[in-house]
Amino acid sequence: MLRYCYNPRGMTPSPRLLLTIDYEPWFALSRKHDFQSPESRCSLDEGTSRQALDPILEILGDHKTSFYLVGEMVGWYPELPEKILGAGHEVGFHCHIHRKLNSVKEIEKDLIASADWLKKYNVQGYRAPMVNTVEGVYPLLKKYGLTYSSSLYAPTGTVINKDGVLEIPVSTLPLQKRRSHFHAPRYMSPELLLLGEFPYGSSFTSGVFPRTVFRIIERALQSGKSPVIFLHPYEIVTPSRFTQRLTNDLFRNPLLYPFTLNKSNFLKNLLKHFPTSTMQDYIKELQ
Ligand SMILES: [Zn+2]
Repeated sequence: MLRYCYNPRGMTPSPRLLLTIDYEPWFALSRKHDFQSPESRCSLDEGTSRQALDPILEILGDHKTSFYLVGEMVGWYPELPEKILGAGHEVGFHCHIHRKLNSVKEIEKDLIASADWLKKYNVQGYRAPMVNTVEGVYPLLKKYGLTYSSSLYAPTGTVINKDGVLEIPVSTLPLQKRRSHFHAPRYMSPELLLLGEFPYGSSFTSGVFPRTVFRIIERALQSGKSPVIFLHPYEIVTPSRFTQRLTNDLFRNPLLYPFTLNKSNFLKNLLKHFPTSTMQDYIKELQ
């Protein structure tokens, strides 16, 4: 495995915010519906994810972003990829059914379930559910025609070539200088915090510390780096009765609460101050 940090071939793309949207249904926060029938998940969504897209595209305006779509939603709402691409954004893949994928076998099954639309829209990018994957994902992505992934947490500016697939991780801020590895899994965990990395690219963190995250992004851009952060559609357009419908989940896991906060003002503030681009445009400049 070749590893490159900051830039693979000596090129430094102009700094920009790599704003990504993990386009998943509102109930992805709960693990309760992971193994229900696809039909029941579709009816549970009640069109929420379809209705959220226009307001999100309107907020984004001319700012380009990468949307990682949950594959089964493309089946529910076939217009999603068309609309996103039509507005000049990138369409990537965020797994077929949003649930933990812990083995190569499960990941491959999930990739096959979305293979048709991935091919149809020439999808290049992958974001693992919960930004949590295994090293074996990279040869699989290559096999199914994807060229990059953003499925780890690592310090801003890290780019890793893994068997020909570029990994461009969700950004962290290292609070101390420590040698570290960049093997999957590298998700938001107590271990990551113990490594001294502040995972500011997660919408959990921007929910709790929006001003701090804004300032970290500003400084990263000033130092020539391109931060990778993610938001979810339900954090931009709050679904009706959102927290009420998640009451049991929030009670069991209060750490989910920051994901239920509306971050549209945070997003608007980012767009007002910082340039953005899709991941694909950033990668073109790297190569
Ligand atoms: Zn997700």
